[in-house]
Amino acid sequence: TKVLHKYSLRSTLEIVRLYSRTTTQDAIDNLTRNGFVGLVGRTPLIRLPTLSRATGCDIVVKCEFANGGGSVKDRAALYLIKDAIKNGSLKPGGTVVEGTAGNTGIGLAHICNAMGFKCVIYMPDNQSQEKIDLLRVLGADVRTQPVVPWTDPENFNHQARRFAESTDNAVWTNQFDNTANKLAHIETTGPEIWQQTKGKLDAVVFSTGTGGTLAGTSTYLKEQNSRVQVYLADPEGSVLYNWFKHGKLERKGDGSITEGIGQGRVTENLKGAPIDDAVHIPDTEVVEMTFRLLHEEGFFVGASSALNVVAAVKVAEIMGPGHTIATALCDTGQRYYARLFCRDWLHSKGLVESVPKMYQQYLH
Ligand code: PMP
Repeated sequence: TKVLHKYSLRSTLEIVRLYSRTTTQDAIDNLTRNGFVGLVGRTPLIRLPTLSRATGCDIVVKCEFANGGGSVKDRAALYLIKDAIKNGSLKPGGTVVEGTAGNTGIGLAHICNAMGFKCVIYMPDNQSQEKIDLLRVLGADVRTQPVVPWTDPENFNHQARRFAESTDNAVWTNQFDNTANKLAHIETTGPEIWQQTKGKLDAVVFSTGTGGTLAGTSTYLKEQNSRVQVYLADPEGSVLYNWFKHGKLERKGDGSITEGIGQGRVTENLKGAPIDDAVHIPDTEVVEMTFRLLHEEGFFVGASSALNVVAAVKVAEIMGPGHTIATALCDTGQRYYARLFCRDWLHSKGLVESVPKMYQQYLH
């Protein structure tokens, strides 16, 4: 193992003093926010005019790419670190260790820099180079691992746990099963959507990696109004659609090009989520929507965002006109420049023809 970098030693008291102002009324009132963590949450909720017109519904999207670290996972990262500081497992000069598809790691790395912690990231080796490059620039110690399932001891999450266990003053934040992740969405994403729609909301739909976004947001919203319908959106190769529909942990479809979503098990964060129904979305529709969002709505986002919007349109078709349906744009397209927006890569996946003809000229 590499020698860890970074010398900054901040006392817990100093960290608390530096960041105690961040969740105050100032932020709610849109006054000066404090520190990097002031850029986590309170993202805009935007109505998509073209798709809303086409469906007769209001399709509204939480712009999670607008978080400081560029994804929805900044929320979980902040709550995981706050939880570790609070329960005493993360002390001054300590190291945060996590297994992640990349976005949680990016959020953690930003916050570690802001608070004076070190950051070690275990990632499966099939994720985009852009995420790895960004993590390295942020100073994280990135260790990519061959892709093996959760049940294999060499799975990237178990590697992260073992490294933390064998390292002094290190904590494995465990985003999949530590419900501080879900709490982030119960306390922030849910209330934000409720306030931003003034409670005029009929359904939410989210894809799932750890399940934190779906479970936390829907738990809060159901408490406000039990009639809000909650849909789980699942990519190809994930088991959650069959788990919900048939009670079986069986994959539906082969692998997917979407990153950060799809799951082989029911995580602690997903358990107990008040889900009403599930939809299964093929990659062909994800790719088409990625380019519709880009060229018809103006949003440059990643595949999980496009999958969420495909799902929102399906929910609009199920419910009929006149409903408000919320979902999330999880991260920016810049993270997938060499994949999703590249002709050769799409071709290698047999997906060039899923890009609408008139937009194929813009592929690089
Ligand atoms: N989209 C992207 C791009 C992600 O990285 C993730 C998290 N890995 C998600 C969606 C899913 O979020 P959650 O973990 O809260 O289910």
